[in-house]
Amino acid sequence: MHLARFPRVRLFPAPTPLERLHNLTHRLGGPQIWVKRDDCTVVATGGNKVRKLEWLIGEALAQGASHIVTQGAIQSNHVRQTAAIARKFGMTCTALLEHRFDTDDRDYLSSGNVLLDRLFGCRIEYRPAGLDMNAEAEKRGSELRADGETVYVIPGGGSNSVGALGYVSCAQELMQQADEIGLRIDRIVTATGSAGTQAGLVVGLEGTNANVPVLGIGVRLPREPQEEKVYLLTVATASRLGIKASIAREAVVANCDYVGAGYGVPTKGMGEAVRMMAEEEGILLDPVYSGKAMAGLIDLIRKGTFARDETIVFLHTGGAAGLFGYNTFFDRAE
Ligand SMILES: *Cc1c(COP(=O)(O)O)cnc(C)c1O
Repeated sequence: MHLARFPRVRLFPAPTPLERLHNLTHRLGGPQIWVKRDDCTVVATGGNKVRKLEWLIGEALAQGASHIVTQGAIQSNHVRQTAAIARKFGMTCTALLEHRFDTDDRDYLSSGNVLLDRLFGCRIEYRPAGLDMNAEAEKRGSELRADGETVYVIPGGGSNSVGALGYVSCAQELMQQADEIGLRIDRIVTATGSAGTQAGLVVGLEGTNANVPVLGIGVRLPREPQEEKVYLLTVATASRLGIKASIAREAVVANCDYVGAGYGVPTKGMGEAVRMMAEEEGILLDPVYSGKAMAGLIDLIRKGTFARDETIVFLHTGGAAGLFGYNTFFDRAE
């Protein structure tokens, strides 16, 4: 793999910290839990989309684009990070926000990530639930091009084979960090949604023969379609990188038992996980992704799924700005 073949902009000081979660490990009685702090990618309160955007914005600039079009749910972390980075490079950002989670909660509709989108001067347009949002974004992009704009369309979550390069790079960065401090990693656990994070990690780990499995914890789809989505993206990403060996379908594993009633809908386990991480470690998770992923990890640990002497790295994908959209839930669950 040779990532420098692809255009990139540098958006944060790498590596992000790799920290031991001593208190959480103690509270759960092992395995050893560490956290890779991709919530600390600096831009606009950070998160995993910044890594993907290094490559996506790199390509947009290489193509001379001045207007970014993207899409997401109303509390999209991806849109917030894209809107901020677009400003940094003097670009206009148009975001299509989907009413994916049916609620009339004022905080959900106007605080958290949406509030920040507005501060970044993002042009927000709303869409009802259930549309093919990537097709909507392409359509909006075509209209803007017809008006003479130079548009670069970024799919939801920045998840295509360009954006996934960010997590190929993260896999390399994490393994190098672990080798430097003599940490043996037995497993990586991460939230998985639009798939670029898990797909990039899998390609990066397979491409370097690290032999470290990744467990994705789903936040939207059932297991089979989620794994299929991640796998298809690993194939596309490996192909972009010119990796000759094929990636085994078995390398893509997702557990989708912690979604609850649907994308963005709070679960009891998520509430417990957010509180536990805050109380034990002083670290903020988010209600839609990392909170549900940590809820899954906690439950699997309680069920005895992992050996006590295993070392698990939880990839913290960020999203704490979304907490302010879920004030009502945390208030009630008090
Ligand atoms: C987007 C997002 C994810 C999911 O990553 P994908 O690459 O879309 O699978 C996880 N956590 C947070 C906080 C996110 O914003």
